[in-house]
Amino acid sequence: MDIGTRSQCARPPAVGGRSAGERCIVCEQGDIALFLEIERVPILCGRLCRSLSAARRIPTARMRLAFCRGCGHVFNSEFDAGVLEYNSEYENALHYSAHFRDYENALVDELIRRYELRNRTVVEIGCGDGEFLETLCRRGGNRGFGFDPSHAPDGYGGRRDGNVVISREYYGSKHAALHADLICSRHTLEHIAEPRQFLTSIRQSTGRSGVAVFFEVPNALYTLRDGGIWDLIYEHCSYFTPTSLERVFSESGYVPLGVAEAYGGQFLTIHASMTEEACDGNNEMDVTELAARLIHSPQSITAR
Ligand SMILES: [Zn+2]
Repeated sequence: MDIGTRSQCARPPAVGGRSAGERCIVCEQGDIALFLEIERVPILCGRLCRSLSAARRIPTARMRLAFCRGCGHVFNSEFDAGVLEYNSEYENALHYSAHFRDYENALVDELIRRYELRNRTVVEIGCGDGEFLETLCRRGGNRGFGFDPSHAPDGYGGRRDGNVVISREYYGSKHAALHADLICSRHTLEHIAEPRQFLTSIRQSTGRSGVAVFFEVPNALYTLRDGGIWDLIYEHCSYFTPTSLERVFSESGYVPLGVAEAYGGQFLTIHASMTEEACDGNNEMDVTELAARLIHSPQSITAR
């Protein structure tokens, strides 16, 4: 990623940042403020190219970031899912980092302990190469079913425990028979143009209560507050804050059970339920001031 080039074409939006007629993709309210436009962003920064020239031929598109004053969500209001094609050339695995593996192993232990995941069934949506799912199943003696259209069966060196099956299908109602005890998804929701419909579809496809739910996404507060600009990529149509992450789950028929920052603040995690359990509700956060600062000084992102 050429930060310098991107900075040169990034600019604050015109006309005071107001966005007429647009609605938030999480709460569907219309109090939207634009705060950053970048004219040319590569549409697939996670695709591995075989040459420099091939990388330079990756198409670009405009990013236009909007902030919702209703729920604190940040999103690319010009995102077009139609230009993206996730296939086996898409590579975003992080587990080659020992630091990241330590984090994942601790997360696996936490999930096994919290949900008593032993001899249970785990579904992971957007499982990538299946590394996390396989670890979760190996450590807990669980059965795993992963779903990811970009999964490359040959990219895993043939190593796969017999109790993990990965499909390139999208998770749907025909998979309700799997009777998942945990449905998890990591770094996928921010890629979905219509997150409410996506979450509602998962809930309806699962078709029963009592299923534990765990999602992990990049933390927009880290991106905007701490200058984590590497997460400003075209594939990310959503940038969740703690308030908007909780809101998208509650709007989609889930009971949020807790949102937390993880991985040094770079990630947000949410535990949720498909039952009527009470929400702990301890996720109050005022992001208005932070967003206002960004709206008036978007250079605070691009100049770092
Ligand atoms: Zn909103």
